[in-house]
Amino acid sequence: MVNFKDFNFAGKKAIVRVDFNVPLNEKGEITDDTRIRGALPTLKKILDDGGSLIIMSHMGKPKGKVNPKLSLGQIANAVAAKLDKPVKFAPDCGKAKEAADALKPGEVLLLENLRFYPEEEGKPVGIDKEDPGYAVAKKEMKTRQELFAKTLASYADVYVNDAFGTAHRRHASTAVIADYFDADSKMLGLLMEKEVVAIDNVLKNAQHPFTAIIGGSKVSSKLAVIKNLLDKVDNLIIGGGMGFTFIKAQGGQIGDSLHEDDLMPEALNVMAAAKEKGVKLSLSVETVAGDKFANDANRQTVDIFHIPEGWEGMDAGARSLENWKKIILSSKTILWNGPVGVFEFENFAHGTGEIAKYVAEATKNGAYSLVGGGDSVAAVNKFGLADQVSYVSTGGGAMLEAIEGKVLPGVAAIKGE
Ligand code: AMP
Repeated sequence: MVNFKDFNFAGKKAIVRVDFNVPLNEKGEITDDTRIRGALPTLKKILDDGGSLIIMSHMGKPKGKVNPKLSLGQIANAVAAKLDKPVKFAPDCGKAKEAADALKPGEVLLLENLRFYPEEEGKPVGIDKEDPGYAVAKKEMKTRQELFAKTLASYADVYVNDAFGTAHRRHASTAVIADYFDADSKMLGLLMEKEVVAIDNVLKNAQHPFTAIIGGSKVSSKLAVIKNLLDKVDNLIIGGGMGFTFIKAQGGQIGDSLHEDDLMPEALNVMAAAKEKGVKLSLSVETVAGDKFANDANRQTVDIFHIPEGWEGMDAGARSLENWKKIILSSKTILWNGPVGVFEFENFAHGTGEIAKYVAEATKNGAYSLVGGGDSVAAVNKFGLADQVSYVSTGGGAMLEAIEGKVLPGVAAIKGE
C-alpha cells in the first residue's frame, strides 16, 4: 500500500473523499467546522506538493435527490478560507470531467453533494425491500453505482480516502471507486491513517491490562461490540443506561431505569462468557437516581439493586466510580465508548466527567487511551480533556463497527484486506 506521507503529488490530480458533513444553521452557515479542520492536513499536503485537488463529500441525507438545503456549494467559501485558496465548485458531481480536466496544479475543485445521486449509496430508490422486483432493482443499481464510481475516478490520477466517518459504508466514493485505481495510486489520507492506527493500537497491539469502558443508553446497540471485546480485554466496565438490563437480569429492582427486557438473556450470556474467558466484568454498584428524566429532578444515591419505584438511575454513584477509578488507573490500554450517565443534564454529568478524568490521568501515567463513538467524544470535549487522551476518534459508526471486529469497506478497498 502507498503511504500518503511519502507520496509526491506534484503534477497529479488527486480526488479526495472527505467527510464535510458539517452541521449548518438555517442560514446555511457552518455551526461546527471540526470535520473540515480534520481534513486540512491531507488537503494541504496535496496542494503544497504541487498537485491539484478535487474534493468530494456527502452532506446529510438527500436520499438520491437534489436538495439545495444540502448543497455543498454553501460551504465552498468556508473551505476556500481554510485552504487560503479559491475553490471552484462543480454543481453536478457526476458531470465534472471538464472542470476537473481544466484544473491546474494548486487549484481546487469542490464537487456537489455525492448523495444527490442514488448511485453513491447504491440503494435502489422507490422500491420496497419486500417487493418481488427488489433483487433485480438492486442488481441494476449495483451496475449504476460502478459506472458512477468510474466517472468520479476519471476526474483524477490518484484517489485518497480521508473520510473515516463513512469508512463502514461500501459507497461509490468510499470504496467502489478504489477499483478504478492501481494499487500505487490509491491511499488513505492522514486522518484516516490515524484512525486506523488508533484502532489497531487497541484491537491488535494492546498492552495489558486492557480495559474497555462501555456506556450509553442501550445494550442492543453495543452488544456486538461487547462480544468482540470479551476476547480482547482484561476488564470490561459497563455503565450508563445499558447497565440496568444487566442488573434487572440478575433480579435487581431497577425502578423506572432504562432497560431492555428482551436483552436480559443476552446480558446473562455476556456475564457467563466474561467469567469463562477470565474477563473482569465491572457493573455499577451504586447509582444517582432521579424522580423524573430532567436536570431538576430530585436526586438520591441508592444501591443499584434497590432503586425505588418512581426513580430511575441517571448517573454513576461514588462507590461505582471508586471501583472504576482503580481499574482505569491500573490499565495500560483503555477504550472508552459511551457516557456512564445522562451527562447532558448538568446534575447527572458528574460520573461521566470523573471517568474522563481517570482516563486522562491513566494516559498521563503512560496508558494508551482511545475515546470514540459520538457521545463519549462530546463528553471529553465537554470536560475539556480531549487533548489529554491518546486519541479521540471522529467516526462514531465506523469506529463502533471496527470494534465489533468488522472489516471497514473504505479501508479494505485501499489496503486490500
Ligand atoms: P449511546 O448513543 O448509546 O452511546 O448513548 C448515549 C446516551 O446515553 C446519552 O445521551 C446519555 O444521556 C444516555 N444515558 C447514559 N446513561 C443513561 C441512563 N442512566 N439513563 C438514561 N440514559 C442514559
